[in-house]
Amino acid sequence: MQLMKPIPNLQLISLLYRSPAKDPAHQQHNQILTRLNNLEAGFYGEEQVAYQLRYLPKGKFKILHNIRLSYQNLHFQIDFLLLSPHFHLILEVKNIIGELDYDPVFQQLVWTKIDGTRMGLGNPISQAQLQKRQFTNWLKKYNLPIAPIYYLSVMSNPKTILKTSPNHQGISKLIIHKHSLLQRIENLLIGQTNESISKNDVTKIARKIKKKNEPLFLDVLSKYNFTKRDMQGGVQCLQCKTLPIPKKENRTIWNCPACGIVPHHSYESAITDFVLLYTRHFSNKELREFLGLTSASTVYKLLKKMDIQTVGRKHIFPVENIQKFAQKDFINE
Ligand SMILES: [Zn+2]
Repeated sequence: MQLMKPIPNLQLISLLYRSPAKDPAHQQHNQILTRLNNLEAGFYGEEQVAYQLRYLPKGKFKILHNIRLSYQNLHFQIDFLLLSPHFHLILEVKNIIGELDYDPVFQQLVWTKIDGTRMGLGNPISQAQLQKRQFTNWLKKYNLPIAPIYYLSVMSNPKTILKTSPNHQGISKLIIHKHSLLQRIENLLIGQTNESISKNDVTKIARKIKKKNEPLFLDVLSKYNFTKRDMQGGVQCLQCKTLPIPKKENRTIWNCPACGIVPHHSYESAITDFVLLYTRHFSNKELREFLGLTSASTVYKLLKKMDIQTVGRKHIFPVENIQKFAQKDFINE
């Protein structure tokens, strides 16, 4: 399965391209880049786990990635959800390097980093219970049938060392290495031979989750104390990253003077940057100002080409478009 990069990663990439923090000398450059690198490491870990999941028996599971649902106004996020008629499995993925030690007395996971600093990562047992309870409540709320729910915390980095005292090996039922994941899922299937719900039920649950999924959007501007005025608008050349590049007269295409090309998907990517930095609901005027255009009908034509919905005077940008057109990496020349 091809994973979609999470929205917060894409937001920080847009911020680095369009804010003053693009400059490596800017005081917030390193802070934003470090945050982005952490998110990217997390996503890389998820890609590693997705690679393992490809080896599951075909058609046995519906696999959903990076879902965020709400129950009683509280959001909960699941890295991977495997749905089947036999059981559901919640996977939490951690990509960390160092040593993880389960302390049974205080019921906490202690992470010792390579440089020797230590950090508490909470209680994995109560985290598992909480996630199971939240998902069960969510299913009940929509009158969806319930199969047994299991939870595993998967360490995606083979360099992570897992430790606990000999009397508390039960924790290994919850925390595993990526390489044990397939074996563990097969064991669950052996222990749960009866189907608890039908295949149709599984399809119904997956459809409802996709409909109710609320991907996380950060308010990146206020988080890093920028204003709209700080942002560099216009269309960016996707090849050489020149920003802004001019539009061809009387056409809805942009031409890069630096590398002499008309970059494919350049205006779609610029509109996506606008959405990632500001809002998914916007007016023609707001977008026009950002793109540096004067004609409302040009902007209207661009939105039409992208199949963007319009409700009243506002346009609504679909999440799928964000993941399709956003720039996936930050490359600083
Ligand atoms: Zn260029």
